[in-house]
Amino acid sequence: MGLLSEGHPLAWNEIKAALEQLRTYGVDQLLRVYSKCKDRQRDSFTWGDELEYTLVKFDHENKKVQLLLKAHKLLPILHELNKKIDDGECCIAWHPEACDFVVEGVPFQPYGFLPSHLNTVEANMRLRREQVQKFLSEQSDNEFILNIAAFPRYGQGEYTFPPVECSPAHSTEKSLCFPDSLISPIHPRTKSLSENTNERRGAKASINVPIYKDTCTPIPFHDELFKDDPNIIDDHIHLDSTTAGWGCCCLQVTFQAESCEESLELYDQLLPLCPILLCLSAACPIWRGYLSDIDCRWNIISEAADDRTAEERKQKNLFSRYCSTPCYLTDKNKHLNDIKIPVCETVVTKLIEEGMPETLANHFGHIFIRDPLVIMDRFLHPTDDTNSYHFENLNSLVWNTLRLKPPPLDDDKMGWRVEFRPMDIQMTDFGNAALTVFLALMTRVIITYGLNLTIPISQVNENMNRAHHRDSTRQEKFYFQSTTGVTEMCMNEIINGTNDFRGLVPLVRQYISEREDIDADTRYTIEQYLLLVSKRAAGTLLTNASWIRQFVLSHPSYKQDSIVSEEIQYDLLKKIEQISNGREDCPQIKHPKMETHTELHAH
Ligand code: ADP
Ligand code: MG
Ligand code: MG
Ligand code: MG
Repeated sequence: MGLLSEGHPLAWNEIKAALEQLRTYGVDQLLRVYSKCKDRQRDSFTWGDELEYTLVKFDHENKKVQLLLKAHKLLPILHELNKKIDDGECCIAWHPEACDFVVEGVPFQPYGFLPSHLNTVEANMRLRREQVQKFLSEQSDNEFILNIAAFPRYGQGEYTFPPVECSPAHSTEKSLCFPDSLISPIHPRTKSLSENTNERRGAKASINVPIYKDTCTPIPFHDELFKDDPNIIDDHIHLDSTTAGWGCCCLQVTFQAESCEESLELYDQLLPLCPILLCLSAACPIWRGYLSDIDCRWNIISEAADDRTAEERKQKNLFSRYCSTPCYLTDKNKHLNDIKIPVCETVVTKLIEEGMPETLANHFGHIFIRDPLVIMDRFLHPTDDTNSYHFENLNSLVWNTLRLKPPPLDDDKMGWRVEFRPMDIQMTDFGNAALTVFLALMTRVIITYGLNLTIPISQVNENMNRAHHRDSTRQEKFYFQSTTGVTEMCMNEIINGTNDFRGLVPLVRQYISEREDIDADTRYTIEQYLLLVSKRAAGTLLTNASWIRQFVLSHPSYKQDSIVSEEIQYDLLKKIEQISNGREDCPQIKHPKMETHTELHAH
């Protein structure tokens, strides 16, 4: 998660004392980056995905499954293993994550511009899973690496192995069910981030998730664990820690653009696609052991990572620093920024004076209203002008659905990149590869055909809310740009087309058909991915969330009371393990005939 760095993190009061100085360092570094890199041209189309994997341990005798706190042991082994692999395309970069039951896997070498790279994504994802599974299986028959966007009973009962004590005394935040021992011991940023978020906010996190009201769910529903907590709301599941959010897993994809200009254009066009892909990727219907009325994780982390004080929450348009992308970046789309976000005026003025266009300057001016919640002591005062630590650190501590990543000062190989961040992780490599490749192709379609998908920010925000709703792919409509202007369309129309809009999948198919340099295997694989996206949007295949929900509702021991018991969770995760390791088909989420021909090497 975010920029990694070794060293000792500063305490919040130390950071607080240096805020003005830190902002000056950050702005100066941004200006150096901008003046050095704004005219950079002809960078190649490189790109890569990030997958967050969950480690679990099954207890077959007692029909239980628990989160396995083992990432700190696995990561050094994985680093050693990959150091010995000299083929960059078969090498994986493993990163620690906030929680000790999560590891993040990234292709060591980003994918390139050749079409056959699109055919390596799934093989690379499979390799990642195999690398970890091999080590887990050497030690136990019961330990697995899975892709789960939110562990169903995270925060409920005894949900970890080894067991950890859950009580306010074991949590810096005084959480009742998310103790500090969940936090990765080898990621010094995380503990500091949780502590500083909490200190800055002046209260512990308070997250209320609407419960799914089944026929036997008590009316009103009270979350028993929190019965004495003034923050709870009737008919809501309660979560009381930043760690509740940081334990969720996502799929992110980063694209390098040819130039700064192209990266801004790409950012603006991907912005309205964020809620659309969040909706298609929905995979989180269960929270703390209860079926909820939402399908996605985004808004949960948004509340968990929120560092605003009580006063700041009252300020208009000052949202959580983890939120939907708040503005377009190019001047031509300025009129669509219809929600006026607060900015640091002195920063904006300075950036404009140095030649940055107004809309981009406003974007950065908004980032600079946030405090850098984590600072490693050895970077506090820069000793020279060769790196852009303070800018990148702050940029990586603002979590929007998109992130503009300018080239770092100390790496001339890196160009302007856009990171796409809204999606829930999918249970299978096929599912993750399908969304990743679809999105990569969408970037080509956007640039090749000069697509204009932009709609006002207020409508994007509304789409984000709708995307969270239960079964939103089939039940909701979304604001979308058609040839006749912005209209409300259902997911099937957006993806598969209407009289007024070609449809995103037909546009990708057109692009593929016009390219003559795509080999047969790659074409075949891409078509399977497009079928998945198309059928999911049409409702003939289920999102992961809808399938998980159905699994619970039809489980023989489910009592129509919204409770996902240990046993239901055990059966669900066992099923997910079987499906994701190819031992069982799941025709509701992927037609068995959707086979791909992926390989590790592009050619
Ligand atoms: P973060 O967690 O800050 O987003 P990571 O290093 O975990 O950063 O992930 C970066 C992603 O960007 C990976 O998918 C990686 O493959 C990709 N990537 C790295 N270098 C480039 C590049 N030059 N162009 C495009 N993508 C890149
Ligand atoms: Mg991550
Ligand atoms: Mg990462
Ligand atoms: Mg990332």
